[in-house]
Amino acid sequence: MCLSYILKKPLRFQLTEPVRYVNFMEIILLSAVQKAEVTSPENDWCRIRTQEKNQKQEEDKADLLFFVVLTKFDLYLRFSNVEDIVNSGSRPIPFTKGAKMRERNYSTLSYLLRVHDQIRPQYAFHATDETGWKEWHKGLRTKLSELLGGFPEEKCPLDAEILGRTEEEDYVREKLVFESEPGVSVPAYLLLPKDLPKGRKSPALLCLHGHGRGKDDAAGIARDDLDRQRFIRPLNYDYAHQFACKGYITLAPDSRCFGERAQDDMSCSWAFTSGLLLGKIMVGMRVWDAMRAVDYLLSRPEVDPERIGCVGLSWGGTHTIYTSALDDRIKVAVVSGYFSSFKDTLIDRGECPCQYVPNILKYADLPDIVALIAPRPLLIENGTRDPLYTLEVVKEEYKKLERVYEVLGVPERVDIDIFEGGHQFSGRKAFDWFDRWL
Ligand SMILES: [Zn+2]
Repeated sequence: MCLSYILKKPLRFQLTEPVRYVNFMEIILLSAVQKAEVTSPENDWCRIRTQEKNQKQEEDKADLLFFVVLTKFDLYLRFSNVEDIVNSGSRPIPFTKGAKMRERNYSTLSYLLRVHDQIRPQYAFHATDETGWKEWHKGLRTKLSELLGGFPEEKCPLDAEILGRTEEEDYVREKLVFESEPGVSVPAYLLLPKDLPKGRKSPALLCLHGHGRGKDDAAGIARDDLDRQRFIRPLNYDYAHQFACKGYITLAPDSRCFGERAQDDMSCSWAFTSGLLLGKIMVGMRVWDAMRAVDYLLSRPEVDPERIGCVGLSWGGTHTIYTSALDDRIKVAVVSGYFSSFKDTLIDRGECPCQYVPNILKYADLPDIVALIAPRPLLIENGTRDPLYTLEVVKEEYKKLERVYEVLGVPERVDIDIFEGGHQFSGRKAFDWFDRWL
């Protein structure tokens, strides 16, 4: 989306519930709003108009709002009188005296929820023994690859290049780039702890970022303390940095449309919709890049091929799920801030389209996809105040994962860290989890 488009049109947030809730993005939003005009709701939208000031101010402000809108980091603007919403929309036309209307339903959401309730996913997990699990696993994996748009039949050479090295206190950070498919370049940071044992291969983690600034967030890179306060600390986002400080080799690549790959003003939602025309699914394209990132790790002499893990927050959690579900080379996974049912997280709430996989609920719900990681060790992290999920649903859906690991006779290989916090990386159990299993 180009900046001028935003500047010309008022930004609009849909108001959905009779409460006002602003979470950690409050500071960013308010700083943006202070420069903008928030008109009281005249219909079911709250308008935030940019004012005609000098161009630089406008761009700064639009950048902030752009970030808020596109990342949808837990942002809910709601107002206090539900009647205002119910009676809003186009100006009501009075009924003719004595006229009656049969019961009608104008809600698209309720229609979609009815469709959802009628669906019985073909690959919902019902196996009771290992033989049943094998059949289910093979069937769903094959179907999932198909739903993701398929993968290239051949792997192109990585043609990797190290572009620079930066000395940090606990590790050396290499800036590198490799090709994931012909003409598709993936920039990444590789963090190499300084105390790696000589003559022995070490465990490595693929650290996948969520919406935001790309690999810089995971690697903990910020221009100044303000940026750090704004982008990294609220989410405890720099897990590639944190794990490197604990002795893990970590690789943090840019996902398509983020970081250095945010080219041509193409947002991830635009890339998703354009890709649909071509049979290219955003999740699938990104999973392929992550698989090639594993290839890159395996090309490094320092990395133990039997000890590769994957971790990610938010969209990075999505990315971790789909990549780990389809790539057995990942031996341990930590999924942070991305576990519930599809209904809870992607239908009841609307999220960035880039994480949607067309038709998937005909075949599997999110816990079934996550369960493809079994019997490999898997830790789920969910904050009690994460507004993107309903905690009761998370707990209920987690029981499905436990059942899969029980059927496989390895119940100790799945765990959940429900921590006091919001949409953020916890780490409370994650460090021990990788230490234990990797
Ligand atoms: Zn997105």
